[in-house]
Amino acid sequence: VSIIVAILGEFGVPFAIRSGGHSFLSGASNINGKISIDLSRMNAVKLADDNRSVHVQPGATWAEVYKAIEPHNLTVVGGRAGAVGVGGLVLGGGSSWHSNRYGWVCDSVQEFEVVVFGTVLRASHRENQEVFWALKGGGNNFGIVTALRLATVHQGDLLLSTRDYSQGQLTDVLVALEEFTDNAPNDLDTSLIMSFLPAKNRKGIQIGLGIVNVNNNHNASGLKHFSNLPDSGRHTSSMKQSELADLANQVQDRGSRKIKFSITVHNKVVVLDKLVSTFKNFCSTLEPETVVGPYLTFQPLTTSHIRGRDNALGLSNVAQPLILVSLEMYWTTAEKSDIFHEAARDVHDAMSRHAELLAMLHPFVFLNYAASWQKPFDGYGREYHRLKSVQESLQRKYDPDNIFNDLIPGGHKLFPAHWQCNDVDGTLR
Ligand SMILES: Cc1cc2nc3c(=O)[nH]c(=O)nc-3n(C[C@H](O)[C@H](O)[C@H](O)COP(=O)(O)OP(=O)(O)OC[C@H]3O[C@@H](n4cnc5c(N)ncnc54)[C@H](O)[C@@H]3O)c2cc1C
Repeated sequence: VSIIVAILGEFGVPFAIRSGGHSFLSGASNINGKISIDLSRMNAVKLADDNRSVHVQPGATWAEVYKAIEPHNLTVVGGRAGAVGVGGLVLGGGSSWHSNRYGWVCDSVQEFEVVVFGTVLRASHRENQEVFWALKGGGNNFGIVTALRLATVHQGDLLLSTRDYSQGQLTDVLVALEEFTDNAPNDLDTSLIMSFLPAKNRKGIQIGLGIVNVNNNHNASGLKHFSNLPDSGRHTSSMKQSELADLANQVQDRGSRKIKFSITVHNKVVVLDKLVSTFKNFCSTLEPETVVGPYLTFQPLTTSHIRGRDNALGLSNVAQPLILVSLEMYWTTAEKSDIFHEAARDVHDAMSRHAELLAMLHPFVFLNYAASWQKPFDGYGREYHRLKSVQESLQRKYDPDNIFNDLIPGGHKLFPAHWQCNDVDGTLR
């Protein structure tokens, strides 16, 4: 990898870096007519002799990692969908079914190997500490990660419980979500994702809930917040983490073109309710046969997940839990792309405005879910400045001509590159 980068730098050829290729951004991990460095065959997974960590190459998928270490009753704090790549998810922070106990996925990295321009560096608590910190949330701004050492944790079967609720239960469901999120530090093994989608007849919405207890505990206290709510459909089963990850892959087969954005709000029913009603109005404006979705998702960012963590995401001092809100939709025809991008942006603006008016908008924007027009690093607060100074000092030392930044236009940038990728088709402009 270091030789390829040095050659591309020598000839000034723009390039892209790809691990699993699951970014929602056009041009983030490929590049029209230039060079894409595809790491998907750098996918080795090797358990350490003492079983306490696993050495992973960035092109491995999470399913490959789970399947390799599951026979030892081990797992890592990793992505939920098996097909997603290790590289991109970790560099954006990464949220996991294990995050309520162990924090972001990047918090479980013990060491990175990273190619900074032509130089291979190791970054850990012991060496290149600032680079180590910056890679935990700094995206592709610092180099190409070529290997990671991840801490392992004990893992047997997990419990997955999915439930469906009707629109009439919205308030009760949101109250249960608020209580669950506030109380999450009392049950570190349970986490959830709540989703909203248009009802089949497009009149109103459906509500879905997926709760996972990583200890396979059917009586976990986190589950009790929803136990008094009658549901219109329920399925509960125990499974291996790799099976759960395979199941989660289903959400990616929804269409070849897509957009996703994310905002963060405080954990209060009043704002969540407003966001759902904005979503409902939005759904009614879309022609159903042209679009898959949209899907609105709420994920708790519990205090045990975010507080006191040593990463670049800027949330380690947050005292109250937050809710990560994301909206995504999928379609197939290129002609509709401009329309859907604009519509998504409008609903993003409306949601942000409502949350702001209620004084419940938090500036954090999750890098892994951010749309091309969002500015996730602005939301990192003062950590943004620290990230920039890490990048500047690396540049002075290893890349005085600032080739790395300028030659990789894709993905969210700390410093804008000369080239930028078109939102819709990823071409350079
Ligand atoms: C079905 C699905 C499920 C998801 N589930 C989760 C989830 O549970 N938790 C979560 O946090 N996110 C989740 N995501 C979002 C996901 O984390 C991001 O889309 C992530 O960027 C994908 O990583 P990748 O390696 O597959 O993607 P890529 O498109 O290959 O990479 C994404 C970005 O990272 C950069 N990059 C990749 N590898 C490297 C490297 N080795 N060195 C430097 N830069 C690199 C790329 O240049 C690109 O900008 C999900 C996405 C999908 C589609």
